[in-house]
Amino acid sequence: MTDLFTVINPATAQPVTDVREATLADADAAIEAAHAAFPAWKALPPGERAALLRRFASVVDAHIDELAELEVRNAGHTWGNARWEAGNVRDCLNYYAGAPERLFGRQIPVAGGIDVTFYEPLGVVGIIVPWNFPMPIAGWGFAPALAAGNTVVLKPAELTPLTAIRLGELALEAGLPEHVLTIVAGKGSVVGERFVTHPLVRKVCFTGSTEVGKRIMAGCADQVKRVTLELGGKSANIVFADADIAAAAASAPYAVFDNAGQDCCARSRILVERSAYDEFLSHLEPAVTALRVLDPGDESSEMGPLISAQQQASVRGYLDGVDVAFAGSAPDGPGFWVPPSVVTVDDPAERIWREEVFGPVVAVMPFDDEADAVAKANDTEYGLSGSIFTNDLGRGLRVARAVEAGNLSVNSHSSVRYWTPFGGYKQSGLGRELGPDAPQSFSELKNVYFAH
Ligand code: NAD
Repeated sequence: MTDLFTVINPATAQPVTDVREATLADADAAIEAAHAAFPAWKALPPGERAALLRRFASVVDAHIDELAELEVRNAGHTWGNARWEAGNVRDCLNYYAGAPERLFGRQIPVAGGIDVTFYEPLGVVGIIVPWNFPMPIAGWGFAPALAAGNTVVLKPAELTPLTAIRLGELALEAGLPEHVLTIVAGKGSVVGERFVTHPLVRKVCFTGSTEVGKRIMAGCADQVKRVTLELGGKSANIVFADADIAAAAASAPYAVFDNAGQDCCARSRILVERSAYDEFLSHLEPAVTALRVLDPGDESSEMGPLISAQQQASVRGYLDGVDVAFAGSAPDGPGFWVPPSVVTVDDPAERIWREEVFGPVVAVMPFDDEADAVAKANDTEYGLSGSIFTNDLGRGLRVARAVEAGNLSVNSHSSVRYWTPFGGYKQSGLGRELGPDAPQSFSELKNVYFAH
């Protein structure tokens, strides 16, 4: 039996198209076909695999606007973000196209012969993608996995399958052999679970909620299956009084309200040194109210809707009974809108300070000194990213080393570059994606000794 899933435009709540959801049998067939395609893909000379990935990158490049338009309609992303996201897939493919010819092992001195190490591909890799950044997160998985010689089955989120399906078609157009990259759109409980339980899937690369990530990790334990987890976050933006307070306040909304706050790296907690607290809030308010929250079909929109009615209800639930200090605007027509909202918090036990809201809500709290800032920033089960604003270089370095998070930036909010490693501490994840070592995390390290 097959089901149709209706994809909705979150800015208008109108249907976009119907997508056929894969069944368990479809998932099994895709995994078995990927397994059958693996030996030839693995055996391809490194330069040929590299050339195919470069060709895939140039086909993506020729379809940037088409892919972006799909994401504007399917996920409510702004045009600027959506074009960047499609370009990120292209760039990631180009970057990892350099890997097949550089995935070298080592020669280690031994007595009586030589010892060499090899990076061998794993086989079929299952990639499970969430709805918040459908294109980049897919590319961060499939580009290094394919470069390392694996075949890939990829499951997009139920709500946002369109760009992944199109990328699968573009891979074939670029000349990747059939079943080397297969998109299997379907339910997490069916297709995603099957990636975990099917013995031919040798690694699961999961991005999504911490709750589902824990289940995936437990499921993978049964077969000692390799797993990478990129999970939730509650990242802190720490602003010291010696920083340029006006500049820090002007940039803060973009660090949390980008993608309507549906960003695992969102700086959803702002910690401000007490002596600069009022000044910071006085600059933050106009920056928040000036945000252009519009239908993302409008090229000037800076923030779009939430992904679904369910996500809208969940975010509104966090605001129920909470005093909102100030908020921006949002369209009041159809669509899943929540205005960007700022809440001041005194008690670190408050739910809005502790839980990942995954919407356009930021909580602000004062701190007393450097030690207090670090203690408050680390008082969370999460540890994905964070920012530090200070004009004291030593302090910037000390605090960046002390915050327990995988991705920190000093005097900026940048966090994800495809050529630098990305991942979380604590319950924000396990393992790292991106950066120069990603192909190794889709490989087994083999040691071979030759006696002479
Ligand atoms: P989710 O965990 O509900 O779903 C993520 C994916 O897992 C979807 O494709 C879903 O279909 C699938 N899935 C659901 N149940 C499954 C199961 N039992 N077995 C296998 N797969 C299953 O998360 P979401 O709501 O789509 O995404 C939001 C979450 O993702 C947030 O918590 C966010 O912080 C996190 N996220 C993390 C990162 C990161 O890199 N750390 C990046 C983006 C999003």
